Amino acid sequence: MNKRESILQALSEIQQEDLNPKGGNVWAYVYDSGLREAERVAKEAHNMFMNHNGLDFTVFPSLLELENNIVAEIAELFSNDAMSVAGTFTSGGTESIILAVKAARDYASEHKPTITAPEIILPTTAHAAFHKAAHYLGINTVIVPVDNTTFKVDSYEVEKSITPNTIMLIGSSVNYSHGVSDPISELSLLAEKYEVWLHVDACIGGFLLAYYKKLGLPVIDFDFNLPGVSSLSVDLHKYAFTPKGASVILYRDKQLRKYQYYTCTNWSGYPVINTTIQSTKSGGPLAACWATLKYIGDDGYKKLAETIWQAKQEITKHFMRLDDLYILGDPEGSLLAIGSDTLDIFQLADEMKKSGWYVQVQPGDLIHNPLST
Ligand SMILES: *Cc1c(COP(=O)(O)O)cnc(C)c1O
Repeated sequence: MNKRESILQALSEIQQEDLNPKGGNVWAYVYDSGLREAERVAKEAHNMFMNHNGLDFTVFPSLLELENNIVAEIAELFSNDAMSVAGTFTSGGTESIILAVKAARDYASEHKPTITAPEIILPTTAHAAFHKAAHYLGINTVIVPVDNTTFKVDSYEVEKSITPNTIMLIGSSVNYSHGVSDPISELSLLAEKYEVWLHVDACIGGFLLAYYKKLGLPVIDFDFNLPGVSSLSVDLHKYAFTPKGASVILYRDKQLRKYQYYTCTNWSGYPVINTTIQSTKSGGPLAACWATLKYIGDDGYKKLAETIWQAKQEITKHFMRLDDLYILGDPEGSLLAIGSDTLDIFQLADEMKKSGWYVQVQPGDLIHNPLST
């Protein structure tokens, strides 16, 4: 065995304990379009750009072109006035969210300088990435309960929680834990009334909902066509089925995006101008994402969305027939949260894992007893 073969063999031995990310048995973390040729094209694209450094677009202008192409294409899905929407390609949902919270914080410090202890209002169902962002950025979180049958945030509760320190409201479309959308149009009205930033977390739901809409399926309003929405995050490494390390953060306009940037000339080295949290970053994920979007294309995504919609209807129908398990709320995208009053769902998940299926378990008690920080 030559060196190459023995290294690759060692890697495949290290992988032995992993569940197979392909094939559809792992119901979290991985998103498989099943299109093997799209995957091969993405791998080649990744290889072509893996040593290009996204730190400096003047040295690698190709990366700027790829990023602009992707952002423009994604903006089209979320605004009737996509030309004025601005955005950035990031490594994932968490990075997109941290950047949006940073932008809202820096926007508030310029426009509302009297706020010294900024707060963001989060439904209990908002992704942990917002708590992480608040922790990193020195911002307080105010947690608002969701309705315990629809699992959507109650906009009246949100309004009651707004204080002179509020800088940002959050809604998910759809949320990760229950797969339902918050009432974004109501949050948009609040954002306008109180002049606060509204971020829509469309990380997992946005791409698919945009394609459901193209198919003429019923979809709630959640994007920049609502006047109060300031920013929206959408992960492409989820339902756009690109390799990992691909998300887009969008802003209503360029003026809002500029608060996301970081610059530093206060050291002895080169002037740092960072659009994202990462500085040196591989061009691989960007090129792989670009290639996947091109390969699957608008028609391909319509077909995938149709297939996912049908599968969701079918799975829902089967769950309705079971006595011990039920679906929580009325999920709008593709995520289903299953509950039981008679079975221990942790044990059920363990049993499924033994037969090669991975489902993610969520404790769920926060819905009834929201923590406050
Ligand atoms: C996945 C997800 C995130 C975080 O994204 P990562 O890509 O895991 O960093 C944020 N919000 C929602 C709704 C998500 O589904």
